[in-house]
Amino acid sequence: MSWLANRKKSLRPAARQLKFMFNRDPAIVPEKNWRSFIKEPYEAVVIFSADFELAWAWRYTKSSPDPLKKTLDKARTERENMPLILDLCDRYKIPVTWLTVGHLFLDSCTPEGMVHHASMPRPGQFENDWWRFGGKDWYEYDPGSDYKANPLWYAPDLVKNILGSPVEHEVGCHTFSHIDCREEVCTTELFDAELRASLEAASRHGIASMESFVHPGHTIGHLDDLYRHGYTNFRTDYRNTLGFPVHHPSGLWEFSTSLEFEYVQGWSEKMQLERFLRTFRRALKNHSMAYTWFHPSMNPYMVQKVMPKVFEWLDEHRNRIWIVTQGEYIQWLNSNSKKPVQSQGHQTKES
Ligand SMILES: [Zn+2]
Ligand SMILES: [Zn+2]
Repeated sequence: MSWLANRKKSLRPAARQLKFMFNRDPAIVPEKNWRSFIKEPYEAVVIFSADFELAWAWRYTKSSPDPLKKTLDKARTERENMPLILDLCDRYKIPVTWLTVGHLFLDSCTPEGMVHHASMPRPGQFENDWWRFGGKDWYEYDPGSDYKANPLWYAPDLVKNILGSPVEHEVGCHTFSHIDCREEVCTTELFDAELRASLEAASRHGIASMESFVHPGHTIGHLDDLYRHGYTNFRTDYRNTLGFPVHHPSGLWEFSTSLEFEYVQGWSEKMQLERFLRTFRRALKNHSMAYTWFHPSMNPYMVQKVMPKVFEWLDEHRNRIWIVTQGEYIQWLNSNSKKPVQSQGHQTKES
């Protein structure tokens, strides 16, 4: 790495810290009509969502010379973090919207001949900003086994723990096999099959319908189809904002990320925590939503050191902050007698 590249890298945490200290990240999207978006008597909304995916997410990542090793390492960390995260949710009564890869609902799967999930259509080879799929078959790494032998590819035990929690978590969809949903890669036939297979697998756990969806890698596409399948909302990460969901022409509500629950390289433990508390205080002051999302495969330091303090702070402020799942929040928005037709958010977007 060049001297300049090294220097740029060493400045990055400091630059990010400055941006944060000056309240530039996340950016406020002012909303005069905030009371239409926040239930009485609350003054702000906080949502936590998780992309629950185990080994399906990183298997074609371009960020490692050995993507399969990286995805298995991530999945192992996710398996270790999940019980701790669920315990913290129980202890501090924090509901999470678990956007789940459909294959994780399965106890097992058996290939037909040599073909995994023979009835499923699959994408051809493609490349996007994050992944390069140059393999022969989309299911080439599927172990075709069961969750006891291969717990990094199935998670019926964890789904049961989520559904059995005293906290009312929501289970949503992250496609069946973590596909790229953009129209140029994903046909309507493939998208439909992924949603149908996800719901069918989820129904084994008594889940009759799902309302919330996140596109893998934020590969946004097929929004009209998503609406047709009965979903009410999805998420984008074009920029981090403190605002409210926007009612999309497809009929769906679009959540915008505020911040990701992740380890920031080079920041102190105090700053890692302050990053969340400061954002939540800003949401209270400006009467907005803080949409916090995470990968359960995150650095365990965050789960062990930072998450307990963040959740404890939220629990202490729960009389002022509405901590809610995506589906429940959208149900309230849709049934609210003063239902907003369109958020002001679009008009204040940066050009
Ligand atoms: Zn399978
Ligand atoms: Zn994902």
